[in-house]
Amino acid sequence: MVDEPSTTATTDEDVFARFSRIRLDQVNIEYYRGLLLGELRAGRCARCEQWHTPLRPICPACWSPEVEVRAVRGTGTVHLLTRLHQGPPVVDYTSPWPLAAVELDEQQGLRIAAPLTDTPTALQRIGQRVELAWIERDGAPWPAFRAVPGEENAL
Ligand SMILES: [Zn+2]
Repeated sequence: MVDEPSTTATTDEDVFARFSRIRLDQVNIEYYRGLLLGELRAGRCARCEQWHTPLRPICPACWSPEVEVRAVRGTGTVHLLTRLHQGPPVVDYTSPWPLAAVELDEQQGLRIAAPLTDTPTALQRIGQRVELAWIERDGAPWPAFRAVPGEENAL
């Protein structure tokens, strides 16, 4: 059962309530607010135009404080892949659970760790093109990725 992200404004109280297990601060709350709004967010520097994730108060590339929080498109390529057999109790591990480091199309090296969902085992592979999907975990929407069939990148 996937929790459809809301398209309305989301207050700080909403974010704290839905992500009660996360230690939220004034920087990372914008990432989690984005999840509730159906956006996967990353930081982008207004000075050097480099993206970064997780969110930071200053640009890790040039140390400028002029960082903006923006939604990424949600398309990318599986850079690394592992299959978990155990982990936090909120996840079902009855079958190995694919966790990918997805390199986002916005920038080389801009990667996010997220599970693969709705993806046949044969397409759970490094180099696979993927797109953003959503899963529910612990009562909140979380980013995941699904394979885009027919789009494979040669490495
Ligand atoms: Zn910068």
